[in-house]
Amino acid sequence: MELTLWTYEGPPHVGAIRIAASMRDVHLMLHSPQGDTYADLLFTMIERDGQRPPVTYTTFQARDLGASTAEMVIQSLRESAERFKPQVLMVADSCTAELIQDQPGALALGADLPVPVIPLEMAAYTRKENWGASETFYQLVRGLLSRQAPAPGTERPKRDPAVRPSVNLLGPTKLGFRCRDDVVEIERLLASMGVDVNVVAPLGASPWDLQSIPNADANVNLCPEVSDLTCSWLARTFGMPTIQTMPMGWGATRDFIAEVAQVLGLTINIDSVGDSRLPWYSRSIDSTYLTGKRVFVFADGSHAIAAARIARDEMGFEVVGLGTYSRERARDVRAAAKEYGLEALITDNYLEVEARVQELQPEMVLGTQMERHIAKRLGIPCAVISTPAHVQDYPARYSPQMGFEGANVLFDTWVHPLIMGLEEHLLHMFRDDFEFNDSVGPSHLGSEGEGARSKSETGEVINESNIVWAFEAEKELRKIPFFVRGKARRNTERFAEEQGISTIQVDTLYDAKAHFSS
Ligand code: SF4
Repeated sequence: MELTLWTYEGPPHVGAIRIAASMRDVHLMLHSPQGDTYADLLFTMIERDGQRPPVTYTTFQARDLGASTAEMVIQSLRESAERFKPQVLMVADSCTAELIQDQPGALALGADLPVPVIPLEMAAYTRKENWGASETFYQLVRGLLSRQAPAPGTERPKRDPAVRPSVNLLGPTKLGFRCRDDVVEIERLLASMGVDVNVVAPLGASPWDLQSIPNADANVNLCPEVSDLTCSWLARTFGMPTIQTMPMGWGATRDFIAEVAQVLGLTINIDSVGDSRLPWYSRSIDSTYLTGKRVFVFADGSHAIAAARIARDEMGFEVVGLGTYSRERARDVRAAAKEYGLEALITDNYLEVEARVQELQPEMVLGTQMERHIAKRLGIPCAVISTPAHVQDYPARYSPQMGFEGANVLFDTWVHPLIMGLEEHLLHMFRDDFEFNDSVGPSHLGSEGEGARSKSETGEVINESNIVWAFEAEKELRKIPFFVRGKARRNTERFAEEQGISTIQVDTLYDAKAHFSS
């Protein structure tokens, strides 16, 4: 384990908490020191969840370590089962608890609790948060479905053609990147193809719902960091096919539709399912914003791969760097990077990422909350595309990343930092102009932006040398186009000063004009 100031992922038990917090009617008993209760804040403050996660922490302290904490574990298990009455009780330990080897899972299985128990091994010293989420989801699904598994080699019955096809959406969780909205978008997309959604899990599912997973025709591996393992097990054990394409971006959404149709044996005209404005917007936009922009991509594995494809094929960017902090997805990201003629950056050390950004000097960064900080320090436009994310990346509005509407959202959120970057560049170039100099207020505040000028009680404008602009003269000045207005103002004030005129009238303006043009 490494001590660090920032980290891309929490320890694996945070992944277990994400699964518990995403579901209904489950409870997690975590054997952990008091410090671990900080995890609640990730959900209540960052995702702004209205309730704290369904977790009971044993909260042992240093003085408890002199004796056995096993009694404390058993008592917490009994109280959790009694108080929360979950359909399933999951049991795990955090890194410090792992060291004291109480084995809370084994204690729970032997404690004769009035609720089914799923023990979890969190491998705190070798694994991280996404692995913890994936492992927890897998153990839960396996624990609940193993008894229903058909004998090995049993052929899966064919779907009755009279019944509408259906799929499960697996992988979305709390604290995932825009999972809430992605589920809505993909449900809509599937509905427009005539495909029902059988179960969405873990997000919003109960253990009871998980038991009906095998009723669907296929599983959509929507968030591979969380659902890959479970989808593979369901494929092996129940013969359920997996739809692997992550529908992020216009092209991948069309590929997803084609894969769903192929797996479910449907005949579908992709063009009739829906469309996004992304392709036309990115073709029609001023090429200064997009074409050939050098982009650095760093995120969780699946978002990094999807974003690189969109960046190159749909936005016209040049991908100059691609990487991930997800060790479990390293192989896929390396293979994707090869397609762009790059060597993938696989690291969970943000200082290495910063060094690579500095070395490559991209014009835009697509990354996580960490890259947002890095890019800000280096003055490079940035859009966040993946966890870890901060509170502003859990917006109140509908803001999916997947499906056709997701492609629209991506276009807006990726292009605007570049436009703003360009605007800042212009402001810098014209900072000596009166319209843009540092003392002028923001343009959206209209006439408030008078900088060093002030207005007298009668509405006359007074400049720094106390020369007054009469109201009519100021009005006349505003008829002059903005790009020469500053020069006209300065010349008129200089003329008035030379002539000993204290109030500029309309005539003074024209006299000054005549004076300087002669
Ligand atoms: S158990 Fe591990 S994650 Fe929890 S507070 Fe201690 S060091 Fe941190």
